[in-house]
Amino acid sequence: MDSIFAKRMESLGTETAFEVLAKAKALEKQGRDIVHLEIGEPDFDTPKNIKEAAIKAMNTGYTHYVPSAGIPELRQTIAEYISNTRNIKVAPEEVVVTPGAKPIMFFSILALVNPGDEVLYPNPGFPIYESLINFVGAKPVPVPLKEENDFSLDPEYVKEKITKKTKMIIINSPENPTGGVLSKQDLKVIADCVNDRNDVFVLADEIYSRIIYEGKHESITAFPGMKDKTILLDGFSKTYAMTGWRLGYGAMRKDLAEKIAQLMTNSNSCTSAFVQMAGVEALKGPQKEPEKMVAEFKKRREVIVSGLNSIKGITCKKPKGAFYVFPNITGTGMNCRELGDYLLNTGGVAVLPGTSFGKYGEGYLRLSFANSVDNIKKALERIEKTLKNR
Ligand code: PLP
Repeated sequence: MDSIFAKRMESLGTETAFEVLAKAKALEKQGRDIVHLEIGEPDFDTPKNIKEAAIKAMNTGYTHYVPSAGIPELRQTIAEYISNTRNIKVAPEEVVVTPGAKPIMFFSILALVNPGDEVLYPNPGFPIYESLINFVGAKPVPVPLKEENDFSLDPEYVKEKITKKTKMIIINSPENPTGGVLSKQDLKVIADCVNDRNDVFVLADEIYSRIIYEGKHESITAFPGMKDKTILLDGFSKTYAMTGWRLGYGAMRKDLAEKIAQLMTNSNSCTSAFVQMAGVEALKGPQKEPEKMVAEFKKRREVIVSGLNSIKGITCKKPKGAFYVFPNITGTGMNCRELGDYLLNTGGVAVLPGTSFGKYGEGYLRLSFANSVDNIKKALERIEKTLKNR
């Protein structure tokens, strides 16, 4: 029988994290104790000043429709923030506010990429990139991230894969799932590749730009000529522990921003008004809380990396940013899916198989260390014991 679903649904992927979470929750319902290292969200509460700003906004009338591209005050605040942090000049008209940063991926691909176009993207990488490239009928061109290169893009490989059909290059730094960070040098090679091409855009996913442990975040937008070719994606979910608020944005050239705003009009109408006012407070208010969160992540990084390296069959590089480790598990003799299932069902630790992030993720697991030191230690003990008792 023919499927009732539109043909295009066949090419839409998903995020395995939500599936593993569902499996883990089902086990918890049966009374099992599970340590959750599968989910990519800070375990901290949203800072108080941000919550208070939302409540104040709600009480002062920010409960109605607002412009699709965002409230002028927030667009202005974001424009200033991006200008200051990326060393470029961004105008409020070049900013579009969305419910979470994810819609910026969807909308920029919808607005720019035609069927048959080629899109380069990191693999292992955030699974939604590949899903959306397929969804619009474009050709996904994975760029493998290798452990021996510290999970950084190989700029020479990128150079080789750029063809006449290339329409977009997606980069993500700091990277989910590997914790790799692109250096200024790497970014320069990519910028040089597209400099003479007015038909190629870079989607720079910088959602983890503030969660960085060594050095400073570098953005491709800062290279000469790159501002107009880049869609800079960022948001509030990770930096301010606001995943459930759904607040993100993109900064891009004005004509493209208008198209993205039109897609907003056609889908969400606008981002929640009082949530946007909380965003103004997040960026303009004190930054002590997000700084404290990063300091805490840094401590946890030490615990999880040294713990994993002491387990037989596992080796783990130290991530430079984000809050994930991507340990090599080939020494266990199991593939990543088998090991992920085994650790969940037998060990009570929920992790993600590396292949949830693309085919080049085989041989790895992703563990989030956005969890307490106690829980991380408990997970490490369980992993060690479960592997020993095999
Ligand atoms: N980009 C990357 C690399 C992510 O890991 C995530 C969330 O997991 C997002 C974007 C989406 O962020 P948001 O919650 O703001 O939609």
